[in-house]
Amino acid sequence: MITTSLARSLIHRTTSFHLHQHSSFSHSYSLRCYSRKMSTETESIVARLKRSGLFQTKGLIGGKWTDAYDGRTIEVNNPANGDVVASVACMGEKETKDAISSAYDAFSHWSKLTTTDRSNRLRNWYNLLIEHKEELGQLITLEQGKPLKEAIGEVTYGASFIEFYAEEGKRVYGDIIPSTLSDRRLFVLKQPVGVVAAITPWNFPLAMITRKVGPALACGCTVIIKPSELTPLTALAASELALQSGIPPGVLNVVMGDATKIGTSLLESPQVRKITFTGSTAVGKKLMVGAAETVKKVSLELGGNAPCVVFDDADLEVALKGTLATKFRNTGQTCVCANRILVQEGIYEKFTQALTNAVQNLKVGDGFSDGVVQGPLINEAAVQKVDSFVQDAVSKGAKVLLGGKRHSLGFTFYEPTVIGDIKNEMLIARQEVFGPVAPVIRFKTEEEAIQIANDTNAGLAAYIFTNSIKRSWRVSEALEYGIVGVNEGLVSTEVAPFGGFKQSGLGREGSKYGLDEYLEIKYVCMGNMG
Ligand code: NAP
Repeated sequence: MITTSLARSLIHRTTSFHLHQHSSFSHSYSLRCYSRKMSTETESIVARLKRSGLFQTKGLIGGKWTDAYDGRTIEVNNPANGDVVASVACMGEKETKDAISSAYDAFSHWSKLTTTDRSNRLRNWYNLLIEHKEELGQLITLEQGKPLKEAIGEVTYGASFIEFYAEEGKRVYGDIIPSTLSDRRLFVLKQPVGVVAAITPWNFPLAMITRKVGPALACGCTVIIKPSELTPLTALAASELALQSGIPPGVLNVVMGDATKIGTSLLESPQVRKITFTGSTAVGKKLMVGAAETVKKVSLELGGNAPCVVFDDADLEVALKGTLATKFRNTGQTCVCANRILVQEGIYEKFTQALTNAVQNLKVGDGFSDGVVQGPLINEAAVQKVDSFVQDAVSKGAKVLLGGKRHSLGFTFYEPTVIGDIKNEMLIARQEVFGPVAPVIRFKTEEEAIQIANDTNAGLAAYIFTNSIKRSWRVSEALEYGIVGVNEGLVSTEVAPFGGFKQSGLGREGSKYGLDEYLEIKYVCMGNMG
């Protein structure tokens, strides 16, 4: 077995990050962060997970755990300390083609099962995910870095999509349309689209998968998952539980490794009828172009640039709690994290001071340590990006009120940061900072707040804090965003539609609307019925 060298994997990761998002960064990578063998703590966590049977490192094709055909592997790191926690199969074109064939073959059987049969198996899967939430949470913390409590919360949240769609799949109703001719009968059937390719990011290693796979399987589709190479272990563990739950071989497949080769194979195959992607806007656009050749159905959950608007008339405690929740969840690494905090001038000083005090108390550290609420960033490139955005803002007149630099813990830790006097033209307000940095913008009027909030290509989530019911309606309607939180910073739930306007994406995930993304509408006209 050939293990790709550490240096090569680092270059690949840094390179792909740069290509996707930040081409201006240097390709130099701090080996200080990623050259360690496994520490004793990591070793004991990995040993425990291995005993649970959930520590899978191979891809899943046709129900069989499979090595890369050329034996290549890629290392998975713990972002909190650089430990190499696993070497997983590094797959490409051939494995992807076989996964597509398996999914294609499995479709004819899976799509014909009764909805009750599919529902029972999904329900079994949900039960297993919940039964193993501690182990899955540990895997998430190990490869992604978020604090363990938050990671276990992600498992509960992620599993909720499987439970919801186990039920909702029973309600894929068609229509009978009153005919314009007396000897005809007109029907609408809803049928599964077929083989689905689901490409997911590293920031929610489980939930971004279940949000796609739940509705896809419930409708009768089969799936090939391509998790991020940074966080494949959670996807593999969840897939092991899917096999145990009675989901037949080939219905769920996992390939990981060379993203471009896997992506190209998925896009080129006429057997893949749907691409569902969560990740950066840059990669989403490429996939949309690639899907055109075979005219696949496409859903995209892309980047955001969420405004969090605090009006003079807000309940300050509610606004502070909501702002902290939306800004600092997953150390600022979510697509719905507040990226710009707009504060009305009457409460600007008071609110900014209260925010700074609260942020000062956020405990930073390894996600496995007690009381930690801010983990590491995913990798060195992410730290460099966050720091460069902060430096750019400072060079243009913004004022660091707290933090603003790497954390003394080293590795990929960054100090929770508050910066005032931000202008909407600054880089930090134009792009996702994806880190623990709260940039605060001062505004005067409601109209100005709406104008600033909408002045971006993104349109995923927005938040407003106000005690006026009239303003809540007015501003919610004026915001060009797919999701609006009013006096609430945490809005995601399996029962509501999640998705963006503008360049934040296409389609919706979660809720009854999430099913439509995996269904074709068929019109049947029965003639000569007189
Ligand atoms: P990313 O770089 O776009 O990667 C996302 C996925 O796409 C990964 O699995 C990646 O593989 C894969 N990929 C990269 N290049 C590809 C290609 N040419 N063909 C096929 N697949 C390719 O995004 P990320 O850095 O992982 O995630 C962060 C981004 O996701 C942020 O912009 C965030 O806002 C967004 N996000 C959006 C939502 C939402 O619901 N709207 C939710 C979460 C995150 P590798 O990792 O193996 O390279």
